[in-house]
Amino acid sequence: MTLDPKDWDAFRASAHAMLDASIDKLTNAREGRVWTPLPDEQRSAIETDLPMNGSTTADVQQDLESFLQYGVGNTHPRFFGWVHGAGAPSGLMAEIAAGAMNVNAGGRDHVAPIVERQVLSWAAEMVGMPKETSGLIVSGTSMATVIALKTARDQRIDTAKTSGAPQGQLVGYTSTQTHSCVAQAFDILGLGKDALRKVSCNDAFEMDANALIDMIAKDKAAGLTPFLIVGTAGAVNMGAIDDLEQFADIAAQNDMWFHVDGAFGATANIGQYAKSRLTGLSRADSLAFDFHKWLQVNYDAGCVLIRNEAAHRASFSDRPEYLRGSERGLAGGAFWAVDYGPELSRGFRALKVWAHLKEHGIKALADVIDRNIEQAQYLEGLVNASNKLEMLAPVPLNICAFRYVFEDNNDALNEEIVVRLQESGIAVPSTTVINGQMAIRVNLTNHRTQNSDLNMLVEAITKIGGELS
Ligand SMILES: *Cc1c(COP(=O)(O)O)cnc(C)c1O
Repeated sequence: MTLDPKDWDAFRASAHAMLDASIDKLTNAREGRVWTPLPDEQRSAIETDLPMNGSTTADVQQDLESFLQYGVGNTHPRFFGWVHGAGAPSGLMAEIAAGAMNVNAGGRDHVAPIVERQVLSWAAEMVGMPKETSGLIVSGTSMATVIALKTARDQRIDTAKTSGAPQGQLVGYTSTQTHSCVAQAFDILGLGKDALRKVSCNDAFEMDANALIDMIAKDKAAGLTPFLIVGTAGAVNMGAIDDLEQFADIAAQNDMWFHVDGAFGATANIGQYAKSRLTGLSRADSLAFDFHKWLQVNYDAGCVLIRNEAAHRASFSDRPEYLRGSERGLAGGAFWAVDYGPELSRGFRALKVWAHLKEHGIKALADVIDRNIEQAQYLEGLVNASNKLEMLAPVPLNICAFRYVFEDNNDALNEEIVVRLQESGIAVPSTTVINGQMAIRVNLTNHRTQNSDLNMLVEAITKIGGELS
């Protein structure tokens, strides 16, 4: 007995039904509620005993179809929460192909490493790094950050060994706006979260260079070893872009590694509006970014790029006998992903990225990014034109933070507005705190959003705010 269908025709019919239902969902992405919580009965259909006996493909297909409307909501044009990409229908096809192939993309000589290498070379070109830059396709920026920072740490330890210089505790620097995944990476790597110094920001939420220089000097004087500066291209809170050129200079002057967290912001380098502020990406020693955010590839797909291939490989390549490569045969192949990250078995994530870039082309993806930046400014205009709303921060990129002005208790009431918007299904913004004040935060990384969606959002906020005051 195998696990293949007993009746292939019936399987084919179920698979086609699943595909049709999925395409229907995406055809109607603009319709209906943004977010719908899972009803209790659906939930108990999931939370069953361990299934000892199977069911039919058709039954499982029905289950899967019934889940389609209970996602996060980020396929909808009025999903504005956190930083989520909307994905694209073409992602379905690459996932079907990858599912049929079921490759293990950890290494060996087959199509997956070749596709992955090509995607990495395209990625480097998109952000302005040399084409030969090393890298890996990973789950997201969080994992990419761990890989980049391990390479940075190991390289520093290795050079210290050969130079024989005394080595104090390693410390790194980033701004207070930096995503929590950087401190997490310090923790995972055993450096400790405290070894990541948080540098204060200017009014535009960009890392303050003078404060950084002071901190480096103090730590050096205390016998510590500053080894890393993490710049941010598009901070998660407000979209701020650090002065990357300046931090590349400071890193070079102090013999430090320059890493950039560009989760969504780095990809704006393909568009016209942010490009001039992203030239410093070309000087990064390493960069972590996502395909699944502003580039609209289906979850999950992130990328780490590392300028020094030898340092990257040295940090991860430690293949035992049973994984030995060879000149010929299936154990050949030049690019073994296992040499560049902690995972051995891994799926064909690169395929959906390759297909997405190939199908849409960089010009269309750049237009999506530029339109979102224009929409953030459009929304800022709507807020400024309203006598009920006020902006709480500048709009450097694609994120607006504002609030409804109440006579008192602004924070709780603005949080309530956001929850009511989410529960009503009209729109999904999220919240953040800006200079101690609760803000309604609207992030635009969605190719389906139109200006009319922003009009609807502002009308709904004004209406709910009016009811609450
Ligand atoms: C989303 C984000 C991350 C984390 O990326 P994941 O893909 O969710 O792991 C890191 N930094 C910034 C600036 C982000 O926006």
